[in-house]
Amino acid sequence: MGKSKSYDVIIVGAGSMGMSAGYHLARRGTRTLLIDAFDPPHAHGSHHGEPRLIRHAYGGGPAYIRLALRADRLWRELEERTGERLLVRSGVLNMVPRSNGALEKRIGEAKLFGVPAERLDAAEIRKRWPGVKVPDTYEGMYEPNAGYLNSESCVAAYRRLALEAGAELLTGTFVTDVKVAGQSLAFVSTVQDVYVADNVILCAGAWFRRLQSFAPVPVRALRKTVGWFEAGAEYAEGAFPGFTLGTPHGAYYGFPDIGGAGFKIGRHDGGREWKPGEDFAPFGAYPEDEADLRDALERYFPGAAGRRLRGAACKYEMSPDEHFIVDSHPEHPNVLLAGGFSGHGFKFASAVGELLAELTIDRKTELDVGMFSLERFRTETTKSAESAGGTG
Ligand SMILES: Cc1cc2nc3c(=O)[nH]c(=O)nc-3n(C[C@H](O)[C@H](O)[C@H](O)COP(=O)(O)OP(=O)(O)OC[C@H]3O[C@@H](n4cnc5c(N)ncnc54)[C@H](O)[C@@H]3O)c2cc1C
Repeated sequence: MGKSKSYDVIIVGAGSMGMSAGYHLARRGTRTLLIDAFDPPHAHGSHHGEPRLIRHAYGGGPAYIRLALRADRLWRELEERTGERLLVRSGVLNMVPRSNGALEKRIGEAKLFGVPAERLDAAEIRKRWPGVKVPDTYEGMYEPNAGYLNSESCVAAYRRLALEAGAELLTGTFVTDVKVAGQSLAFVSTVQDVYVADNVILCAGAWFRRLQSFAPVPVRALRKTVGWFEAGAEYAEGAFPGFTLGTPHGAYYGFPDIGGAGFKIGRHDGGREWKPGEDFAPFGAYPEDEADLRDALERYFPGAAGRRLRGAACKYEMSPDEHFIVDSHPEHPNVLLAGGFSGHGFKFASAVGELLAELTIDRKTELDVGMFSLERFRTETTKSAESAGGTG
């Protein structure tokens, strides 16, 4: 086993969060090594099957709204630096049964941050977007400045800029272990080598469980499926917004038909648990992969319930409360943990990367990250560390 040169920071997992962090760190002159098991962007984790929704009137409270607004600014900056179109402001329509009662508070909070959001009744929704068939018992919130991000292109763009800024990237390399020998000395092991750094950032997405013996991050991976369906002109880009839809039969999200790719729909709740090391079944392996999506199409978007053009299976990495985990390791302040993005993290990746760079270099941030602390799971964390028995 060799011993390589040392770095200021090693990032384990160069996906959505890790690649962005790599860019922000390298840009600030930090000697950064990114290590990824695959060759990002890739189709094994959480960022493939673009696009991803970006919304700002967030239900999780002010910390998320601030983070979303900062992320939006940084996505625009990424577009300016690369000359690529990464963020499309299609508008996003959120629909729920009126009995849900959550929209008024969300709109009120959003207004405090200058985020435009409009409340609509079911008749108004159906009038504006004839492709939507929600019953009168539903209502909606429309965010005109929201939209979607081309997630794979975003990861590719950060990769290019990170490397241009001097970061190094090792692809096809699985990190097997991390050891810390002091406040500013860490060893990151792969099958072939050991790499040395002052700081480590773990952004292992759906694979956190594999690093459990070192990093007690309570993340559970779920297999999720999305499909693209032949749809009428009323669902085309420009005519139809991105959407989320809460129903008694499931929670869904989706996108207009972009350039003939089909109307994309995914189910947010449910999903089968997946553990690192297990086979990962492709789209279509289970009847519900398409049936769940088709059920929602037929009920709520009947003109988009055409032939399936494509399907994809992807991984959610769930924290117990579905809020993010961005914190330092409980015993090692020079190790940062960023995970548990629970199926809604991509939109924030630009800002999370910047935040990880700030926490590494400055040891502080202006953002309010208290709600992302690992401490909130202290009991669960302790329990899962014990049950892992040190093997991961
Ligand atoms: C179907 C689907 C739809 C989604 N829709 C939305 C949406 O509309 N809006 C939104 O904001 N979010 C959405 N999300 C969630 C969002 O995509 C994720 O929260 C985000 O991509 C998570 O980023 P990550 O960096 O944690 O994971 P990833 O991007 O998967 O990166 C993790 C990386 O770590 C690497 N890795 C892991 N372990 C190791 C190791 N030991 N050694 C080396 N490398 C390692 C992996 O190879 C991978 O590249 C969706 C997710 C899915 C699956």
